[in-house]
Formats: sequence, C-alpha cells, structure tokens
Amino acid sequence: MLNFSVGPVQMDESILSIGAEQVPYFRTSEFSAIMQENERLILSFCNASSDCRCVFLTGSGTASMEAALSNLLSKEDKVLVVDGGSFGHRFVQLCQIFEIPYETISLEPGCPLTAEKLEPYADGGYTAFLVNLNETSTGVLYDLDLISEFCAEHGIFLLVDAISAFLAESIDFEKHKIGAMLIGSQKALAVPPGLSIIVLSEEAQDRVARATPRSLYFNLAMALKDGERGQTPFTPAVGVLIQLNARLRQIDSIGVEAETARIAAQAQDFRKKIANLPLTVFTKSLGNTVTPLEVSGSSSAKDVFSILKGEYGIWVCPNGGSLAEKVFRVGHIGNLTFSDNDALVSAMEDLVKKGILR
Ligand SMILES: *Cc1c(COP(=O)(O)O)cnc(C)c1O
Repeated sequence: MLNFSVGPVQMDESILSIGAEQVPYFRTSEFSAIMQENERLILSFCNASSDCRCVFLTGSGTASMEAALSNLLSKEDKVLVVDGGSFGHRFVQLCQIFEIPYETISLEPGCPLTAEKLEPYADGGYTAFLVNLNETSTGVLYDLDLISEFCAEHGIFLLVDAISAFLAESIDFEKHKIGAMLIGSQKALAVPPGLSIIVLSEEAQDRVARATPRSLYFNLAMALKDGERGQTPFTPAVGVLIQLNARLRQIDSIGVEAETARIAAQAQDFRKKIANLPLTVFTKSLGNTVTPLEVSGSSSAKDVFSILKGEYGIWVCPNGGSLAEKVFRVGHIGNLTFSDNDALVSAMEDLVKKGILR
C-alpha cells in the first residue's frame, strides 16, 4: 500500500528495522540518556529555551490534549477555543469534561481565523487560548503570528495543538510565545502511533505545579519530576521512544528547516500535478501537511477513497460528518516522494477516465 493518509504515515526502512528488535528493559542509564536526548532535540526543533521541558506520554495525540487541559487549566480559567473542525471540537469536549469555562470561536469548515473574527474577543478577559495549528480535518492552517500577537497583547496563555503541524510548519516557541505545545508520534515525526509529547514553557510548568489533576496516569507533575532523570512514572512505549530517537537524530543531521522544506516541496509538487483534475482545493488557508480536495458534481469522495484503496493500493484520508461525500484529503507527511505523487495522480486520472471523478 502507498499511504497518503495523515497518520500513521510511511516510515523509512531504518526506523522500521528498529521496530523489529527486542524492546529493552528501560530503568537504566542507557535508556535515560535516550530520553534526555529526545527531550533536547524536540526542544531545539521548536526553538524552545533551555527553561522549557518536554513530557513524553504513552497514548495517541488526544492523550496530550487531555493531559494538557487537566494539568494546565482549571475552573479558574476562561478559555477561548478555536472550533473550526473535529479537532477544535475535541478541545471543546475536553473543556466540558473538565468543567473549564470556555467560549468558542466557531468557524465554518475550511475558513481561516482572521483579525476581524478575532477582534470581538479582545476584551473578553480570557486566560487561555486553545488552537489546533493545523485543523487536520479540513486542512486549514491557522495564522500563528496573528494568534500569538493577540495572546501576547492580552496576556493569554497559548496552548497550541501542533500534532499535525510539528515539522511540517516552522514553529518558533520563543517568537510565538507559546505556553505549551502538543506533538504526536504518528504524524510528521513518522514513527508508530502511541506517543504524545507536550512541550512546556516555564509558565506551563508553574501551572502544572499548581494543578490538582484527577488522574494518576496523566499527572504531569510526576512526569516532569521523573523526566529530570530521563525516566517516566510508568512503562512508556519504550520501543517507539527508541524509534523516535533514531528519527530525531536523522532530522537533526539534515536540520529541522530542511525537513520542513522537504514536506513543503512534497505538498507543492502534488498541488501542481492535480491542476487539471476535476477537484477543488477545499481551503485557501493551506499548510504543508495535507491537501483537502472537494469532488465536483455527483462524484463521491467516499467512493474515491474506497476505490483508491481497493483497486490501486493507495490510502488517502476520507472525511467524516457532513463532508464525507464531498471531501477527501491527501497527506504530504511521512516517507513520501515526488514519484509517489505521480502514482497517486495517475490513479486519479484513471478515475476520471472511468467516470468516477467527474
Ligand atoms: C492527529 C491529531 C490529533 C490526535 O489524534 P489521535 O488520533 O489521538 O492521535 C490531535 N490534533 C490534531 C490536529 C491531529 O491532527
């Protein structure tokens, strides 16, 4: 199968082969050294200062969303959530579960957050701002400069879900004055699912110190404490952390900018090649991670997904909910090449010949 989904994504051979090895015992100085290097490299890739910390949680990306809300926010906060798709909505659900006071900026699917839309919230007395930098469900990349200026101006703690944006976009923790940022293992990091990382500013660490999360597994104070010696409170996804280490070293050897440029070029190449297909890019606020495509007329996006999967051995990403028949998505993260794009485009040209894409 050729995988253009947005996660899990294609891994390269060197990372795959580590997955075939025995998983070592981990309460050792050798494993601690791997963990400390993982933390150092993640912090350097997002230009976080040496006062920042990372915690490594075993769970998919949603685990870090949940841990962030339960450890960084409380009933004393007043949170502003950008709700422009299914991941924005997940933050709303979590605010409800943890009874964190919130308001939403609701955006139509595919719509950007503009200065005009943000303006009415300027004097709302918000203490925290929650955004999925890339709302992966519709492919919208929000304007981090705009958001971080707004938060800095109003003294708002900024929590960025960068799960699908990390490595695909350049993110500067210091410049964007990010309070905390979430990363997942199976997106552009291109290791197996099962790990989720939270980057914590000093302010975020203060919030953790004050928090009383009603959770043992997602107690970030414990994770931070054990992390000082390169350990975790509970058995982590040891094998994935070792794969992560190899992958981070690989990125470090070419430089994080080069990795981001590679993903951007992969996206550009694809977008250029689909110009003559009967498909419309669903949003104008595109990032590098994914291209959301709207089918025309009576064509079915769901059929495109199933036929590419069943007859061509290609995975693209279907959409859910109201967009299920209209939109599918093509990812540009993971170990993909321009010739992989050619294979997908020629399969889609075939669908046009067969009248499936009209
Ligand atoms: C993938 C993703 C998540 C996490 O989803 P999981 O299935 O829990 O890994 C969260 N936010 C965004 C923006 C994502 O793309």
